[in-house]
Formats: sequence, structure tokens, C-alpha cells
Amino acid sequence: MTRVAVVTGGASGMGEATCHELGKRGHAVAVLDLNGAAAQRVSEELRAEGVTAFAAAVDVSDRSAVEEAFAKVRTELGPVHILVTSAGVVDFAPFTDITVGAWQRLIDVNLTGTFHCCQVAVPDMLKAGWGRIVMISSSSAQRGSPGMAHYAASKGALLSLTRSLAREYGLSGITVNNIPPSAIETPMQHAGQVAGHLPSNEQMAASVPVGHLGTGDDIAAAVGFLCSDEAGFITGQTLGVNGGSVM
Ligand code: NAD
Repeated sequence: MTRVAVVTGGASGMGEATCHELGKRGHAVAVLDLNGAAAQRVSEELRAEGVTAFAAAVDVSDRSAVEEAFAKVRTELGPVHILVTSAGVVDFAPFTDITVGAWQRLIDVNLTGTFHCCQVAVPDMLKAGWGRIVMISSSSAQRGSPGMAHYAASKGALLSLTRSLAREYGLSGITVNNIPPSAIETPMQHAGQVAGHLPSNEQMAASVPVGHLGTGDDIAAAVGFLCSDEAGFITGQTLGVNGGSVM
């Protein structure tokens, strides 16, 4: 069945791959991203693939901008029944060097941004008696990450948000899950490597049981399934898509 899917952070990496996956599955896709030009590019690529697509520039940490973007999606595509929150930012600093500003920014985007999008999308899902929410969290939320405590904390809260919303909306046909990726080749990971904060691909791959890194498509495949009708009995879960790394 064709549904309207909103993908935040849809202009790059896992979000971009997810837009294509959901489009392939027959859904109309709204690409929401801080980078409006890149979101536009992805929506044009989707349209070239025959997908009904829409793009909007939005900072997910800005509540009124999120409300405005979802209103546009409703006008252009219809009510929102699938939400994937992939928009995120990362930062690296030893714990005692984390500034209050850096802490706040990560909480604002990674946690509060996800809260805004879920809260604005859920009424459509309640009305339909059907909904799918998938949050992209992080393996750092499961195992902790030295030098990234603020990032890990902002992502860790998504695991509790997942479980709470899953229980709150279980009787309403809405499932809520999260995927904590690890070692996925994306522009975000590449930037961390170039800045010297993350190990090289080869070093990372050596610590992954399957012996190689993951791709945005690996995440998108799992998201696509979790957003399907077939996944209706899966909710409140944290699904590791990480090449077998034990968290
Ligand atoms: P990416 O940088 O390629 O994509 C993230 C997208 O989010 C970008 O297009 C960016 O413009 C957008 N974005 C950033 N701030 C935003 C905001 N305030 N409002 C709207 N959009 C915003 O990164 P990615 O690796 O695809 O990351 C996707 C998600 O996966 C992120 O939440 C990230 O924290 C998480 N993650 C990534 C990895 C990895 O290995 N790459 C590991 C764990 C978690």
C-alpha cells in the first residue's frame, strides 16, 4: 500500500538511502534536511525513479520550522504515516572539554529534533490507525563512547523514547523502533575520519565480525522492513545493524 513517508536527514548517507528504499517500496517520500539544496537533489533523483517526492529545508531542532515543513508535506503528499528520523549531528571532545553549547546542540538536534518530528507526525498516524516510526540512534548509545559522551547521551535517550512511544501507541497501530548503526560508510563517518577522530575504514573493518563496513543501503533495507505491514508485531525494539558487533 502506498503511504507518505517523511525522512529527516534524507539528503545524505543513511537518510538518502532510506528515501530510495521507501520509494522503491511504493511510498511517496518527503525529504527533509537542513541542507535544502541537497534535499532537492534527492527528491529530483526520486522523481526520476518514478517516485512521488517532495523536499523541504528544515532544521529539526526548530519546532515551528518542523510544523511548517510537515504542513507542506500534508498539502503536497497527504497525511504522514511513516517517519524515519535520520537527521543527526556528531561532535568529538574529551568529557571535561565539552562546552555547554556543544552539549545543548547535540541534545537539540539528535534528541529534541526527534521529539519534535514524532510529536508532529503522530496525530496523522492516530487518525489512520496505522503508523511506523524508525529512529536512527547509534551503537554509542548501547556501549558508550569515550570522547563522545554528549553524542552518546543524546542518542541513548532515543532508546527510551522508542520503548515509551511503542508502549503508548501499541493499541493504535503505530510501531516505534530504532536502529543503532555502527561503522557505516557515510559522509558523517568520513568527516570524522578526515578530522582524525575516527579510525580508518581498514581499522574499523577489522573489528567488525563480518569483516567489512556497512553502507547506507544496509540500514535502509532494515528501515524499509520495519516500516512495512509485515513488521507490525515488531515494536519497542533496538535493532542492531552492525555486522555482528556485540553491544
Ligand atoms: P550524514 O551526515 O551523511 O547525514 C545526516 C544528515 O542530517 C545530513 O544531510 C545533514 O544535513 C542532516 N542534518 C544535520 N542536522 C540537521 C538538522 N538540525 N535538521 C535537519 N537535518 C539535519 O550522516 P549519516 O552517517 O547518514 O547519519 C545518519 C544518522 O545516523 C545520524 O543521526 C547519525 O548520528 C547516525 N549514526 C551514524 C553512524 C555512522 O557510522 N555513520 C553511526 C551511528 C549513528
